Amino acid sequence: MKAITGGKIIAGRTWLGGTALLFDGRVLDILPKSELPAGIETLDAEGAWIVPGFVDIHVHGVCGVDTMDGAAESLETIAAGLAAHGVTAFCPTTMTMDEAHIEAALDAVEAAKNAPPNGARVLGAHLEGPYISASRLGAQDGTHLRRPDPEFVRRRKSTLRLVTFAPEEDTDGRFLEALREEGIVASLGHSQATYEQAMKAFRNGAKSVTHLFNGMPPFHHRTPGLAGAALDADVFCELIADGVHSHPAVFRLLLKMKGVERIILVSDAMRGACLGEGEWDLGGQTVTVHGPEAKLADGTLAGSVLTLDLALRNYGAATGLPLWEAARLVSENPARLLGERDRGRIEPGYRADFVILDEGWRVIKTFVEGKEVFDRHENRDCKGL
Ligand SMILES: [Zn+2]
Repeated sequence: MKAITGGKIIAGRTWLGGTALLFDGRVLDILPKSELPAGIETLDAEGAWIVPGFVDIHVHGVCGVDTMDGAAESLETIAAGLAAHGVTAFCPTTMTMDEAHIEAALDAVEAAKNAPPNGARVLGAHLEGPYISASRLGAQDGTHLRRPDPEFVRRRKSTLRLVTFAPEEDTDGRFLEALREEGIVASLGHSQATYEQAMKAFRNGAKSVTHLFNGMPPFHHRTPGLAGAALDADVFCELIADGVHSHPAVFRLLLKMKGVERIILVSDAMRGACLGEGEWDLGGQTVTVHGPEAKLADGTLAGSVLTLDLALRNYGAATGLPLWEAARLVSENPARLLGERDRGRIEPGYRADFVILDEGWRVIKTFVEGKEVFDRHENRDCKGL
């Protein structure tokens, strides 16, 4: 049992000062410091914020490694690298590649789910492709596209938490039905779907939209498409809040239309994140990182070099949301989408996943299930954090 005192604890829609957070692997209590049990290990947060741990549901890689490496060491590196940015749980995200590569990546994710946390927890995979539209590939390799395959997702159900697919490719609806039946979150993306096709998929159980505005036709008032359906329906929307994938004005518009309960900030980071400028591989394609942009040779945006703490700062700066509301977009909302009932909030019974942030919303320390996995005063493996 341990306690953190002297912090501003974000609990629900507000924050609590003058209290102590008591935890082991789970949050035990939030109580006055004077009521703490005697003799327990106590950390003074010195007025910093204590925020629910971030959950990144869309991240390919970071620190030079990628989910598609299909390697336990790569996932460990990602877990540690993300923890430096406040992430306490994540869905390693695959790319459209040949079946053997995807199977190997999923095998590695399955094995990593049960590994003891030395960083963020692996919750299971986000399968991004190969069931997407040839006309909305983004940085996905079109040579490996396949028809949506219900049997594949049923076979890999224990590893898959979220699947991005183009609903117009699922012509008989059997793929979405399989996702719904297996309890895998269906997210629409990399899609040319009409408004009507998208709304039908939402009615049939799709719950989210993958990086809204990217990988889909732009919103048009006569043909609202997937973007319009995402704004109209009561579904979650992922947003890459780096100011490159969408303009900060769009952060504000989205908040007006969806509210704080339906927006999920994702990094969509690729292996070059945290490493500065250079050339990197993403799903078999070469990506050049320059400043905040990661692009293929033809100029197509190819993942990001965003981290979730920076996304939170960007979103807060653009919208003026206070931290106790903005934090939902990286913690409670993604946990709710995934059905993680004991993550995303600081509340008795929840896992002791939290981040200590300074006044500039920069990460001081990260705790996963009560264990300190990052401290910014110590040396870090990941360059340029
Ligand atoms: Zn992605």
